[in-house]
Amino acid sequence: MYVDVLFPINFEPFTYAVPDELRGAVKVGVRVSVPFKNGTKTGIVTALVRELPDRLRINKNGRKVVMKSVIAVLDDSPFLHEKLLKLIQWTSEYYMSTSGMALKNAVPSAFFQGKKPGKSRIKIDEESGSAPAIVLNKEQQAALNAINADEGGVFLLYGVTGSGKTEVYIEAVMALEEGQQALMLVPEIAITAQMVDRFRRRFKEDVVFFHSAMSVGERMTSWTRMRNGDARIAVGVRSAVFAPFPELTMIIVDEEQESSYKQFEGLRYNARDVALARGQLEGLKVILGSATPSLESFYNADIGKFHFIELTARVEGRPLPVIEIIDMSTADKETFSLSKKLMSELRQNVEDGNQSILMLNRRGYSPFFICAECGHSYKCPACSITLIYHKDTNTLNCHYCNSHLKTPAHCPECDAEKVKYLGTGTQRAEEDIVTLIPELSFTRMDRDTTGNKLSHYKLVKDMEQGRTDILLGTQMIAKGHDFPDVTLAAVISADIALNMPDFRSGERAFQLFTQLAGRAGRGNIPGRAYIQTYEPDHYAFEYVIDHNYRKFYDNEIQMRKELGYPPFNRLLRIIFSFRTKAQGQSIASALTGIVRKIKHRNIEILGPAPAPVEKIKSLWRWHIILKGQNAKSLREVADSIHTRLAEMKEIRIDIDVDPVNLM
Ligand code: ADP
Ligand code: ZN
Repeated sequence: MYVDVLFPINFEPFTYAVPDELRGAVKVGVRVSVPFKNGTKTGIVTALVRELPDRLRINKNGRKVVMKSVIAVLDDSPFLHEKLLKLIQWTSEYYMSTSGMALKNAVPSAFFQGKKPGKSRIKIDEESGSAPAIVLNKEQQAALNAINADEGGVFLLYGVTGSGKTEVYIEAVMALEEGQQALMLVPEIAITAQMVDRFRRRFKEDVVFFHSAMSVGERMTSWTRMRNGDARIAVGVRSAVFAPFPELTMIIVDEEQESSYKQFEGLRYNARDVALARGQLEGLKVILGSATPSLESFYNADIGKFHFIELTARVEGRPLPVIEIIDMSTADKETFSLSKKLMSELRQNVEDGNQSILMLNRRGYSPFFICAECGHSYKCPACSITLIYHKDTNTLNCHYCNSHLKTPAHCPECDAEKVKYLGTGTQRAEEDIVTLIPELSFTRMDRDTTGNKLSHYKLVKDMEQGRTDILLGTQMIAKGHDFPDVTLAAVISADIALNMPDFRSGERAFQLFTQLAGRAGRGNIPGRAYIQTYEPDHYAFEYVIDHNYRKFYDNEIQMRKELGYPPFNRLLRIIFSFRTKAQGQSIASALTGIVRKIKHRNIEILGPAPAPVEKIKSLWRWHIILKGQNAKSLREVADSIHTRLAEMKEIRIDIDVDPVNLM
């Protein structure tokens, strides 16, 4: 008897012999300890093998293969349910990775390293108490009824910001039967902080959390509780889509359009799409919620593939914020990036004792640090990216590879010492605002202020409890938060989002601005929002100020159709990375030859071309993009390109199925 054993490494399973005395104990899903290279390794039994395939009986030299044997069986009952093993398998095939990589993403690796679960150290909301029961309004009740009425399937819950989607999720989970479990995915830890409190107050010990700010031990504990069905609901980020619940019945994907559901390296999966696949594999209800759904999901609802549920109004008859576009090319300004209009509204708001949220989607102090004499600008030596000046550390940082360079005292071109700072990042905006409005309690929230594990949580708490007057941050402040005292929301520079060279830039900009505006006026005082831009005529604004997602969708989907972009076609991107710029040419010509030979019907191949970001971490990058309707044929073509290039050892090939980032 033999078993296939899967390890959390980038390989498919390895086959081992099972000694007689262990035959009774090995089952699919248990962990085993086996010899591996010169040591031992822990893996999962994925299959029992009665008959060995030829390649495992006789090796290339015609000799009999000597199989290594399982040393010990580590679990009495399966550590992983078979359903989860199937999902791992599906994920690896769909994303053209290996099942070992999928396992690595699905299960905390500590479980393969003999570590023991730890006690929860994160004390969240000690003063939590009980949640006051909220009575659903008519629309919320109708939404809940629609969800409860069907046995399975996918629901798109489209509800404007502040329409009370979260209450609907909570009630849908409450409606599950004893012994059934639900999973709720949230896009980012920054958003999770408040969700955590809301769910904890409501579900007490019946909720577990799963996110990257937890320690290894905490994650193991959460995971074990899920695996044992010892909780009713889990709230977690991307990798929680692999939650090991035994009787999972429902998956909720909040803010389903968020690109943070997509992993950008390694196993490039999108948790929203894995949730949909899991729904199919296990016959679950999947609820996708958003105020600004992805075009893909709204389209699926439109053509009847998803059930469509709508919450048209904010709770308690609260109005949506009034949104005003500020044209920065004509506006009077107080500083380079702050209009008089916005500053006077901000001052007034602080005076009135209300809170404000400002978004600037660029970290650091200045995105263009240049020589005042000759205009020399600084690029990352490893990436084809301009460095961003960070004032607090006095460094030039690369936001791609994270390297920090000491700011040079002299220009390397002309030796001048004077520099200019062009453009504004969050650090500079903070400096400006704090100078213009002293006596202000100000908080900045971006990746530089949230490095620490609990820092998100603390910043959110400060805001929630009224200790902060103005919260300024990158896109991480735009979504999900529910601060009732925020009455003013503003985008300091909309142009960053508008000018991304990506077919989704219009969609992303619409979503981002709508979400940000949606933070204002969630309490008793109506909110307003301001968007500063040099491009006030951009088509996205027309729909943003009217809060008209539907019209935006109608317009955008037409463009997608004309250009054959998703949802009308699927994309698959292949990225080639290599060490010298010259190699690009030889890869390009090899590719052109290969691509010409591939005559797959209905698949369009764009490129080869240098990637928009041509170099990252000292590797040059080219890419091709495959476009077609059938996911399987796209994978086949990608596979044959991959195989034919396999001899070119000096290039790395990364395949990105359903890419979200084309840079
Ligand atoms: P969304 O997720 O749609 O943006 P939330 O679920 O965060 O909206 O709800 C916005 C606010 O309204 C929350 O503070 C929530 O507690 C409150 N709320 C939700 N439903 C009701 C209701 N039926 N009556 C009163 N308040 C509600
Ligand atoms: Zn770099």
